[in-house]
Amino acid sequence: MEKILFLAHTEDDGVLAKAALEALSGVIELRRQLTDATLAVGVIGGDVSTALSVVGGCGADAFYAVAGAEFAISRYASDAAACAAICRAAGATIVITPATARCNRVVPGVAQRLGGRIDTRVGGFNVNGAELRVQRGYYRQRMIATLTRAERPWFWTVDSGVFPKWEGAPVAVQAQAVEVTPGPEFTRTSVTGYKAPLSTAQTIRPDAKVLFVAGVGWTKKQADGQPHLDDAARTILGFLEKAGASLGSSKSLVDQSSDGHNVFSFMSHLNQVGQTGSTPRHPKGLSTCCHGEEPHVVGWRFVGERRAINLDPNCGWAQGKADVLYVADAFELVRKVTELL
Ligand SMILES: Cc1cc2nc3c(=O)[nH]c(=O)nc-3n(C[C@H](O)[C@H](O)[C@H](O)COP(=O)(O)OP(=O)(O)OC[C@H]3O[C@@H](n4cnc5c(N)ncnc54)[C@H](O)[C@@H]3O)c2cc1C
Repeated sequence: MEKILFLAHTEDDGVLAKAALEALSGVIELRRQLTDATLAVGVIGGDVSTALSVVGGCGADAFYAVAGAEFAISRYASDAAACAAICRAAGATIVITPATARCNRVVPGVAQRLGGRIDTRVGGFNVNGAELRVQRGYYRQRMIATLTRAERPWFWTVDSGVFPKWEGAPVAVQAQAVEVTPGPEFTRTSVTGYKAPLSTAQTIRPDAKVLFVAGVGWTKKQADGQPHLDDAARTILGFLEKAGASLGSSKSLVDQSSDGHNVFSFMSHLNQVGQTGSTPRHPKGLSTCCHGEEPHVVGWRFVGERRAINLDPNCGWAQGKADVLYVADAFELVRKVTELL
């Protein structure tokens, strides 16, 4: 019999991230399919009371908490100790966490401490009789693998966007407080705060409805024989601001910036979409000045509706990869759309 543990941390405001509530939907479904599994919930944070009541109605058999100022912040030493303590208290055989930055950093180490195994960025599961299988993508190999493991505890970090957000009514619950004794390693790292770009300067917006992708075309010589980098930057940023879109890039474009060329300051390798980049999930995507080559397009597989703008009617997007291809000048078209927005 599997003992499932859903393990999550609170955010700064004391609630759980959307990714955590999505993972919880997956956990509830897993428990339903396994029929004889038990479910426990573990929450780590400064004050976990709100988060616990939010998940209180999920049908768990037990709730565990590690709370206190030491655990409000994301720090490897304290998070690893807290996660391991909850896993032990729950006697978990399957531990499921959301693939948040905080969990991604700590959960592999917890699996090691407990002699378990881990599969990160799980994108689905199925129960086949007594055998439980997970799916995960191997982006560089362009494969989705379905795999199972006999070792326990088996840790999964679940990708966001896979399951719908869990929306049960809040129920007050009494959680079992799990003791974690602060070790010297807790004070070795002190978290003094966050440094993050202004939200207006943040071009990667995972929750945006639209993914706007820029390719090398923005830097190419245009009809007048000249490149127009400043105009391109204004046009791209203008659209992003009006549409609230997330910015993606082709590899070729972000590679140019690292070669010391004068390209776009608001873009880095983090924006790269594709085989060697990210695989974002957005309802819609608009690719501009990008050729639509397979190593780029493979990163679009979770984008719902795909459109592209290219001067070339024979570009890769036209080969069945885009739902709609506008054969047009992206400078003109994006400016016009921004104006209309
Ligand atoms: C192992 C491997 C891994 C790779 N991984 C990735 C990856 O993760 N991500 C990735 O992106 N690439 C990846 N690549 C590179 C990929 O194959 C392509 O070379 C790259 O994506 C092409 O970038 P691009 O379309 O921006 O540039 P280009 O191929 O130069 O295309 C520019 C396009 O802009 C168009 N254009 C120019 N001016 C305008 C205008 N005014 N209006 C409209 N259109 C215009 C042109 O017609 C042209 O089609 C990988 C390659 C390899 C070998």
